[in-house]
Amino acid sequence: MNITQGLRRAQQINRNGIAIIEGDLTRTWAEVGDRVARLAGAFGEYGVKPGDRVAVLMLNSARYLELYLACAWSGAVIVPLNIRWSTRENALALEDCGARLLFVDAAFEPSARELADDGMATTVVWADDGASPTGLLDYETLLNEAAPVADVMCDQNDLAGIFYTGGTTGRSKGVMLSHGNLVANAFNALAEGLFPRGSVYLHAAPMFHLANGAAMYSQLLCGGTNVIIQAFSPEALTAAVERHGVTDMLLVPTMIQMLVDSEAVVSADLSSVRRVLYGASPISEAVLDRALARLPDAGFVQLYGMTELSPIATLNPPENHLGEARERGLHKSAGRATLGVEVRIVGDDNNQLPPGQVGEIVARGDNLMQGYWNRPEETGKAIVDGWMHTGDGGYLDADGYLFVVDRVKDMIISGGENVYSVEVENTIAEHPAVAQCAVIGIPDDHWGEAVHAVVLPKPGEAIDGDELIAFCKARIAGYKCPRSVEVRDQPLPMSGAGKILKTELRRPWWETREHGIS
Ligand code: ATP
Ligand code: MG
Repeated sequence: MNITQGLRRAQQINRNGIAIIEGDLTRTWAEVGDRVARLAGAFGEYGVKPGDRVAVLMLNSARYLELYLACAWSGAVIVPLNIRWSTRENALALEDCGARLLFVDAAFEPSARELADDGMATTVVWADDGASPTGLLDYETLLNEAAPVADVMCDQNDLAGIFYTGGTTGRSKGVMLSHGNLVANAFNALAEGLFPRGSVYLHAAPMFHLANGAAMYSQLLCGGTNVIIQAFSPEALTAAVERHGVTDMLLVPTMIQMLVDSEAVVSADLSSVRRVLYGASPISEAVLDRALARLPDAGFVQLYGMTELSPIATLNPPENHLGEARERGLHKSAGRATLGVEVRIVGDDNNQLPPGQVGEIVARGDNLMQGYWNRPEETGKAIVDGWMHTGDGGYLDADGYLFVVDRVKDMIISGGENVYSVEVENTIAEHPAVAQCAVIGIPDDHWGEAVHAVVLPKPGEAIDGDELIAFCKARIAGYKCPRSVEVRDQPLPMSGAGKILKTELRRPWWETREHGIS
């Protein structure tokens, strides 16, 4: 099956169903299908052939969703660009993927102008309501002047997208996902009961990041509605939920934290929300608890995965967040492998480890990527004997529940003991004055690495380093506690997908030293 079979089916059985809502704009599946066929026609007129890349540098919008579909319809490969990248990083990615067309909106106008002037092979298209700057093609003009074309009917092995990884641990890699990969992920999610028929899904997280982007494919298969806000803020989210009766959404932990800290939620009516999917980075129990209390009618579902797995590998359903399961600690699990995905834990020699033992998480299934674009060596290291080596440490319990302990690159080895930075962060997050924190290993002549905490206080609060260390000592083993604390007055550096960039926090400490961590 390919992606557009989903769209043709939605057009056939759900013509008048609402596909997209963005502010005052509403489009049915029939209208979206019509626009997508014309957009694909326009691609052809600009020389885009099946397999050619089409890049998108936009905030969330109805047009972004149309572009996802038009690429699939025309056989082109979509390349969503990270909205936090600098113009230089965007130029590098465009060169890396060799995009023929680049779609931009007003948020990226300066970048677009620079990229258009750069003499690059890429043609820039303005996909915004405002008048297009001189020299750029205009999305609506292009679409209105084009004749609709038929779906090229891609094979399931044909590439559908190149999705750059979050760039949390180093330079982003382009993940090649096929039609079959993305459809497999969508099916797996549906088989687990996510995206039920008639669901109204809010794209609150950025659409360039597959954690949220992939939901579009699931909504396509279930014929559901996509509610779109340009970018996440607690206010924009609550307004959209109230106005459109949102039932489902995916939030990354940073967003959940902002949401529960926000005044906007206190007075909002969020009772339409049935499911909150969360994942993409570890969540602290303190934040999860507050979220459960704020949205008592919603089921919380933890997802673990990665871009390379299209992206879902495991799922922890709502019932494990409550009652007896919760007392057994199951709410701390990332859940079990979804139908269609296999998950194992392996040791240093790639040997399978028994339940309870921590090793590297590996996974395989029809959702496993085709490889990294232009990086065969990295692909060879990541996929061994058909299994994706995730770079994440974790263990499975006797019932197949996965517990993610830390990224292998973020583990700290202090005096020969393994310290999982996530565990220390979760402890620090319980402190009432802490807004944000990250724990890293810094060079230490005696211990090899020493545990170091970087924290941001909540507005109006102060944090005393020694007091925070004592707070940790009362809760976790001494060797896991920070030896030093750095109190910041600015938010910690964050990736476009809302993850703290520990590489940036580590860099000044390790610049002059030998260090195995990139
Ligand atoms: P890069 O690969 O460029 O360093 P990234 O790994 O952050 O960036 P993504 O593919 O967006 O890029 O994220 C996948 C990673 O996110 C996983 O490997 C894991 O470390 C983390 N992650 C995802 N879901 C969870 C979860 N539920 N709990 C803990 N960590 C998670
Ligand atoms: Mg990764």
